[in-house]
Amino acid sequence: MSGRIAAIWQPAYIGLGSNLEEPRAQILRACHGLDALASTRVVRVSPLYRSKPLGPVPQPDFINAVAGVLTQLDPRTLLDGLQALESALGRPAVRERWGPRIIDLDLLVHGRERREEPGLTLPHRGIVERNFVLYPLADLAPDLDVPGLGRVAELRGRVTSEGLERLGEP
Ligand code: AMP
Repeated sequence: MSGRIAAIWQPAYIGLGSNLEEPRAQILRACHGLDALASTRVVRVSPLYRSKPLGPVPQPDFINAVAGVLTQLDPRTLLDGLQALESALGRPAVRERWGPRIIDLDLLVHGRERREEPGLTLPHRGIVERNFVLYPLADLAPDLDVPGLGRVAELRGRVTSEGLERLGEP
């Protein structure tokens, strides 16, 4: 992968979701793919969760997890890597907004970054309202201070666990 490499290793958190073609296997494949990204190592993966799909499209439940990585890639290069990995795992370039997906990889947090740019918002916009992000993230890093938003354990305390089922280790 081309791109700029920062001198220091930063902690970053990636949200993973799948509801097609053996979702658990897709999540595991994606974790291996993350670990294979240049200058990026997976440190820990959360337990898996089952969640109800958002939006109007009838579709299977999702399997979700969060991976904690260390990376030397800047946020934009890491996001490029996530999108390349989504394609490699078979995600079509164009699909329904709320539709089912083989794999979805979201860059949730990258170090202390706060950005609002076309195609990249950090921390990820969905964090505060999504229980399928906050529960697994809190399993990994309850004391993480999400830039501009606060401590993960407190953010998790503000969302219901309704529709979310903890399945255990991946
Ligand atoms: P989705 O269909 O939910 O995977 O959304 C993908 C779109 O969200 C892409 O166009 C990304 O450029 C954009 N995006 C903005 N911020 C982020 C982020 N922090 N992580 C992943 N995708 C992001």
